Amino acid sequence: MELIKTDIAIVGAGGAGLRTAIAVAESNPDLKVALISKVYPMRSHTCAAEGGAAGVIKPDDSLELHFNDTVGGGDWLTDQDVVEYFVNEAPKELLQLEHWGCPWSREPNGSVGVRPFGGMKIKRTWFAADKSGFHILHTLFQTSLKYPSIERFDEFFSIDLLTMDGRCQGVVAMEMKSGRLFQFQAKAVVLASGGAGRMFPFSTNGAIKTGDGTAMAYRAGVPTKDMEFVQYHPTGLLATGILLTEGCRGEGGVLRNKDGYRYLQDYGMGPETPLGEPVLKTMELGPRDRLSQAFWHEQQKGNTIPTPWGDSTHLDMTHLGEKHIDERLPLVRELSITYAGVDPVKEPVPIRPVVHYMMGGIHTDIDAKTPVPGLYAVGECACASLNGANRLGSNSLTELLVFGKRAAGNAVQFAREQTAEADTTALREQADKALDKVRELVQKSGGTESIAGLRSEMAKSLEEGAGIYRTEETLQKTSDTIAELRKRYPAIELHDKSNVFNTDLFQALELENMLALAQTVADGALARKESRGSHQRLDYEARDDETYLKHTLAYYQGKEAPRIDYHDVVITKSKPGVRDYSGGAK
Ligand SMILES: Cc1cc2nc3c(=O)[nH]c(=O)nc-3n(C[C@H](O)[C@H](O)[C@H](O)COP(=O)(O)OP(=O)(O)OC[C@H]3O[C@@H](n4cnc5c(N)ncnc54)[C@H](O)[C@@H]3O)c2cc1C
Repeated sequence: MELIKTDIAIVGAGGAGLRTAIAVAESNPDLKVALISKVYPMRSHTCAAEGGAAGVIKPDDSLELHFNDTVGGGDWLTDQDVVEYFVNEAPKELLQLEHWGCPWSREPNGSVGVRPFGGMKIKRTWFAADKSGFHILHTLFQTSLKYPSIERFDEFFSIDLLTMDGRCQGVVAMEMKSGRLFQFQAKAVVLASGGAGRMFPFSTNGAIKTGDGTAMAYRAGVPTKDMEFVQYHPTGLLATGILLTEGCRGEGGVLRNKDGYRYLQDYGMGPETPLGEPVLKTMELGPRDRLSQAFWHEQQKGNTIPTPWGDSTHLDMTHLGEKHIDERLPLVRELSITYAGVDPVKEPVPIRPVVHYMMGGIHTDIDAKTPVPGLYAVGECACASLNGANRLGSNSLTELLVFGKRAAGNAVQFAREQTAEADTTALREQADKALDKVRELVQKSGGTESIAGLRSEMAKSLEEGAGIYRTEETLQKTSDTIAELRKRYPAIELHDKSNVFNTDLFQALELENMLALAQTVADGALARKESRGSHQRLDYEARDDETYLKHTLAYYQGKEAPRIDYHDVVITKSKPGVRDYSGGAK
């Protein structure tokens, strides 16, 4: 095993990892950064983000309105100190990106343009056509290249964390092209490894989103937080689940059922905003949880369209005109034509809700700190409790930036305080355990289970039992199934026994990670006997602040089910209220 000594190891080179790396390099060029990623940075999922990033910039908007939208959107499960810090820092970070070269779309007068987004009651989403994530990631990537202290380890697969003397001291990763293992010894580690939407069968998420970092932290003793909150995006392209950005609705697209009827008006989300008004009434611009739930109700009423890929409704943009679509939504047009054979200029596009984002993740505080000293987490893998029970679209790209910078500041300070030499030999012994795990997986023969088989059972079970609507019965069944799949996992056998790009091995490791996290989703949801945000229980329809205005923590217990515990929500100025999307800004 090769040894790499660094000051700060960052796992993940998407928006969160790159922003963290840049901030470390800027604050102290002498600190060495190892940036570890299982894909080339520009292939991180951030690249796929379409719609944009929220931050107050226009005179008719205010930090208070952004705060209120985020707290209410999250059904009061947000930590309000985190939200306050976030809305304050958001415009600064988006301007910083502008200065680094991000080509934000403009108003006719040359100022930065903003578009409407679901659950934001005023226009505040900065965008770069419908390729916002691509441009943001590119801007960060090219900026990171300026700093010689950032050393990249592209196509390195992180397997486990190294913890000793009560603190995190590094990470073990495999060079994917050679199968060689590396022990990264670090004074502080930042996890920026993205979400885990790929646990579900129908998802907008890139194939890499398998929750590896979250599972690594979980195994190392850090609880996951609020994993039962899984966001369904209302407009996934039928068949593939490719995202059609909320920008489609922001630009004026409408949802219609099988009769061509705009069904959202029946679900407390009307009437629509007259064109040109800055303050938004909701209708199609309601929050994602509500829109996905409305689809489910339409399905129960028989108002959806049956197809071989599941029931669908329509996203109608035909009234927007070719010029507008080509200028604001060129990628959406391209994707719809290529993957559904439908040109949105001419016809409504078939869509259905699709798993999009994990509100939950690694438990961190406002400083991106986990309970294990020296370990930080940021971005979609983390749960700093900005998003509560339902994330508002366009808050997370900004979250990567705001908390990437903050994580960097705290990790740098922690690294500076570590003056004692690390015990390389003892750490090596721990790293060898990862080596043993890999050897065993690769060498074992006579297995009776397949990776693909277990994975599809897991995905099916999550969708059926822990989907848009849940009950005690469906959740219990899913929890039992996942527990059983975890027991069957050791019987898998890899068909590829080689060292070179052994994708069989990486998929096996990813499956182990997803199974561990799937159990936190099912068990967290089972224990939460209320409905809040994206967690909707048909057997407990009301929100229960008395008992459940709390974050769920799940602790790893090896082969056993996780131990569920709770953590207080930080409420500073907004008392829990009613989420109202029937009118304008409140
Ligand atoms: C299709 C789509 C559109 C979206 N649109 C928007 C939008 O318009 N606005 C918005 O605010 N949000 C949007 N989101 C959400 C947002 O884009 C993501 O939450 C965010 O980009 C995640 O960034 P990240 O840096 O945390 O992770 P990612 O960008 O997913 O990067 C994860 C990194 O971790 C690395 N990694 C993971 N596991 C390992 C491992 N085992 N070893 C080594 N490296 C590893 C990967 O290689 C990668 O570099 C969208 C999401 C999707 C899927």
